Amino acid sequence: MKNILITGASRGIGRATALLAADRGWSVAINYASDAAAARSAAREVEARGSRALTVQGDVTDEAAVAAMFDTALDGLGGLDGVVVNAGVVAPSLPLAEMSLERLQRVFDINVLGSYLTAREAARRMSTDRGGRGGAMVVVSSAAARLGSPNEYVDYAGAKAALDAMTIGLSKELGPRGIRVNAVRPGLIETDIHASGGQPDRAARLGAATPLGRAGSADEVAESIVWLLSDAAAYANGAILDITGGR
Ligand code: NAP
Repeated sequence: MKNILITGASRGIGRATALLAADRGWSVAINYASDAAAARSAAREVEARGSRALTVQGDVTDEAAVAAMFDTALDGLGGLDGVVVNAGVVAPSLPLAEMSLERLQRVFDINVLGSYLTAREAARRMSTDRGGRGGAMVVVSSAAARLGSPNEYVDYAGAKAALDAMTIGLSKELGPRGIRVNAVRPGLIETDIHASGGQPDRAARLGAATPLGRAGSADEVAESIVWLLSDAAAYANGAILDITGGR
């Protein structure tokens, strides 16, 4: 039995990961920022699969909220074996010259600072040299980190490239402390994130031009995350796995 915490699990890839983890019998702490109804719905679906679920509101850019989120998950589930650093956002497509300071700050705060705060708390709570029981961390990066997302989101692409570097560094820092750290880099995946960037049809439109000729699904990304969390991936550490249909 494993207990895992997923940030941004009320919708999209995080939610699909929660449900697949539940299929494996794992207990899941579902973090969300604002959509409590969506988080409760995800929790009900986890429970319908016979697994334990709890929801925990918390903005990942808020240091105290991140600490409280881990307190809730650890106490509520009875220990933690895995963390998925998933919460992330895009902003409307623009060239860099048009981006405001507020937008740049939000994109870097949620995607980079929020992920570092989550990963730091996982290191504090799960490291075997700090009394934790070790486990696995999976960071949700993006193919944007290597494509650069010109004229759309060079801010987001840079933020995700920071997470690739974080993954490599933490795999070496935390491997000896009992935590494997890996990342997935999804490509064009059908979730609400594209509508939040002003292009609801983006995944379907651009997905058609990828080698597999379609966008991916959140379930297909969840498969890779759950594998990296599982004991089947016991020797994977510092891996960055592209789930892009070959894009
Ligand atoms: P999504 O459907 O828009 O869901 C985003 C999730 O993140 C929601 O649960 C949201 O909570 C949560 N969230 C947003 N800001 C937060 C904050 N400050 N604190 C805590 N939670 C926050 O997105 P998605 O497509 O599943 O994306 C998940 C991850 O995959 C992101 O890191 C994204 O960059 C990455 N990714 C996605 C794609 C893609 O094509 N979809 C491709 C590559 C990478 P609320 O519901 O409460 O708002």
